[in-house]
Amino acid sequence: MMGTDLTGMVQRELSDEELLALDLDLFPTDCVEFIEKPKPCEGGDGHTSSRTTESCCTDQGTAEATCSGNEQSPNQPTTSEQGSDPLCEGSGTKRRKQDGRIPLERFGWKYLTVTDLSRQAWCEQQVVYGAELPHIKELREDIPVVKAGSCLHLARELEVQDIVPITVESREDKWAVKMLNLLSMIQFLQAGERVREFPVFEELEGIFVVGVVDELCYNSKGELELRELKTRGNRTYPSAAQRKSHHLQVSIYKLLFEAMIKGQLKKDTITHHLRLRTEQPFGSEVLAHAQSVGYTVSTFGDLLDLVLLNLTYAEIPTVDTLKIEYCYQADASVIGTEVVPFEEEWVKSELRHYCSFWKGQREARGVDIEEAWKCRYCDFADICEWRQSKAEEATRKNRANQSK
Ligand code: SF4
Repeated sequence: MMGTDLTGMVQRELSDEELLALDLDLFPTDCVEFIEKPKPCEGGDGHTSSRTTESCCTDQGTAEATCSGNEQSPNQPTTSEQGSDPLCEGSGTKRRKQDGRIPLERFGWKYLTVTDLSRQAWCEQQVVYGAELPHIKELREDIPVVKAGSCLHLARELEVQDIVPITVESREDKWAVKMLNLLSMIQFLQAGERVREFPVFEELEGIFVVGVVDELCYNSKGELELRELKTRGNRTYPSAAQRKSHHLQVSIYKLLFEAMIKGQLKKDTITHHLRLRTEQPFGSEVLAHAQSVGYTVSTFGDLLDLVLLNLTYAEIPTVDTLKIEYCYQADASVIGTEVVPFEEEWVKSELRHYCSFWKGQREARGVDIEEAWKCRYCDFADICEWRQSKAEEATRKNRANQSK
């Protein structure tokens, strides 16, 4: 592949120090693109304030839950963190060490999204900066190419479901909308139909992980396929590094989905991690929506019982095939489709590694010197201490070599 070859050539001819200082234009375009659409609904109440709506798929139409009230998103930074600026407070590494809390607690997150984990595969340090400096991340989500990706996803979703707005009054309401969506989608899957934006969640490595599967459908052989849409600004396949993070993403979706349909997901796991109250009654709009789709539940706990029962006894098959479709943003044409082999040991070992950071068992890592080209496209390159330390290390090595 062109990108791989050129990167390899650069590594052989230049020193590490020179590699860190390389110009963007020296790299092929398939290395350049790592502007991916944000998952607007992943986690529903995820890291960005934009994720305050969810779509309900019903055979009567679709609902979009709008979060009202003062509920803070579980994965958003706490108020004190939002008010602090690492750039004004000296070394980020020093500050993090002094803090003493594990990263999940420090960011006030109750769970990780699958997108967090797949972005970690690209650069873990970048995920940390994204959490510490959300205003920079949000600026990126405003850029046209990212918006175009989101529009394509929405257009696909609207092919199979409409959107109906529902006002939610509590965090339990918000998750209730997600659960009601899930109940409808289970019925569609049982009937052999295609569903889009399927919510998946379960505890992995002691951390609650939440995701949204782009599409589940049956192929001509009746096997269940999990499909992920990736949009691209150029009509090219992504680099190997990007594809690795995509492979991890769809593999985690499969793990989560299958834990749910095999009855491994427990009510206590959900309420414990998300700190949701089972006795919480629904707000008026959620209650009306539940009744309109045929469910006579009045508390969040009742709904959870119903969902878990349906998941376990619906006899939905396991996922046979993982597919990633790459689409060109400008005209929505398909660049190509990749079938991803599911390597259970690999994905579990990656998860152990990435989760160990969130549990405070090790420090965050930036990219290795061989992948220093990623830094050239990173919003945090100017402030990145990892990058700086690698550049200094490379300079020291160079000097030592020259003095021999
Ligand atoms: S500058 Fe490089 S190492 Fe630092 S966060 Fe960005 S990609 Fe990661």
